Amino acid sequence: PVVTRFAPSPTGFLHIGGARTALFNWLFARHHGGTFLLRIEDTDRARSTEEAITAIFDGLDWLGLTSDQEPVFQFARAARHAQVAQAMLEGGHAYRCYATPEELAELREQQRAMKQPMRYDGRWRDRDPSEAPDGAPFVIRLKAPQSGETVIEDAVQGRVVVQNAELDDMILLRSDGTPTYMLAVVVDDHDMGVTHVIRGDDHLNNAFRQLCIIRAMGWQEPVYAHIPLIHGSDGAKLSKRHGALGVDSYRDDMGMLPEAVLNYLLRLGWGHGDEEFIPIDRAIALFDLGGVGRSPSRFDIKKLENLNGHYIREAEDKRLAALVAPRVAERTGRDVADIDTALLTAAMAALKPRAKTLDEIADGALFLFANRPLDFDEKALALLDNDARALIGTTVDALAPLQSWTAEAIEEAIRHVAEDAGLGLGKVAQPLRAALTGRTTSPGIFDVLFLLGKEETLSRLSDVRH
Ligand code: GLU
Repeated sequence: PVVTRFAPSPTGFLHIGGARTALFNWLFARHHGGTFLLRIEDTDRARSTEEAITAIFDGLDWLGLTSDQEPVFQFARAARHAQVAQAMLEGGHAYRCYATPEELAELREQQRAMKQPMRYDGRWRDRDPSEAPDGAPFVIRLKAPQSGETVIEDAVQGRVVVQNAELDDMILLRSDGTPTYMLAVVVDDHDMGVTHVIRGDDHLNNAFRQLCIIRAMGWQEPVYAHIPLIHGSDGAKLSKRHGALGVDSYRDDMGMLPEAVLNYLLRLGWGHGDEEFIPIDRAIALFDLGGVGRSPSRFDIKKLENLNGHYIREAEDKRLAALVAPRVAERTGRDVADIDTALLTAAMAALKPRAKTLDEIADGALFLFANRPLDFDEKALALLDNDARALIGTTVDALAPLQSWTAEAIEEAIRHVAEDAGLGLGKVAQPLRAALTGRTTSPGIFDVLFLLGKEETLSRLSDVRH
């Protein structure tokens, strides 16, 4: 059975790259009917924060990428990690190193001067620990193989080979008894039964060193799949400057739907022909590691917005209204309970065709919640000249007698006004839009009148009529 895991370090927000790693692991597990696990790698005590842990949980919840079991916290397993270091020692796969920090600094200095790669030289590898001063602090180091080569058949990168002479005797357990990242990851993956390690290719070099530990312990080797990192549109490593933010920003600040973010993340490095819209069920059915590309993918906020627009149009109006209501409340300084979600729901058909984000829907919906007298923007005000105000007066007179306020009745009345004035419909719609919304762009004019209702429409028009 397949077991995958997402193993974020809680040192910052859940960024887009981390979310994609989580998605690929989750999809791979779902595709194979396996298990997806979450491990919080909180061993860096100085940089790990509660906020970051919360952000990871929130972001994954929102995307629906939740762990199939209780999340594992790595720091809590330190005793187990130390135990394995001890076992490595006893099995002759590791040794105590008593080199002092000063000694190691000197070694680094020499290597720097000789332009050699900086690495530990194995000085305690074959030395008898009894040569160390009594009670001297020591670290436990891996006895890495020194000849031959290590090969990884990576499910994404293909065959990757490293000369063992390049591997150094890395530290497994620090002098204070705490495990290093390299040891902790291997022990946890083993204990959690992880069969497939899917992660960013910045960890590919670590994989060779982690394999040394796995082999020394005689454990089952996982399948590795190192996925290329995400780059910005300019080809540089992704950063904030490219518009790449924490997952919470896509949800809160921009108003993205989780299904759009998932679809976008999926297509960021994985493809199935030219298919662009791949809902999650289809993604589960199709996902494979062979479809993951080997070159870095480029983050493109425009593509994400387009996908979001697509999923907005697919989404149920009621759900959208509930998501947009708080944004309208914020913009109008009202309590969210005072936002008429039935009205918002009814307005969705008119609001969502062109919107790319929930934010844009909220902006488009503002006219429904505006107080009279309206605030007009400059362009709208410019439209409301004397002729326009006279025309608005005529329109009020044409609308006032309407018995039923239906889209059809409204349209017929307005068309009559236009015909009588010898004007095209657009020429009538423009000042009406300005008078009713305070702006020069809005949903279709008949929708605007219909959604505002007869009373509010006539009141707003009368405010500016001649
Ligand atoms: N905690 C590591 C990171 O956040 C991931 C380790 C792994 O996936 O093996 O980059």
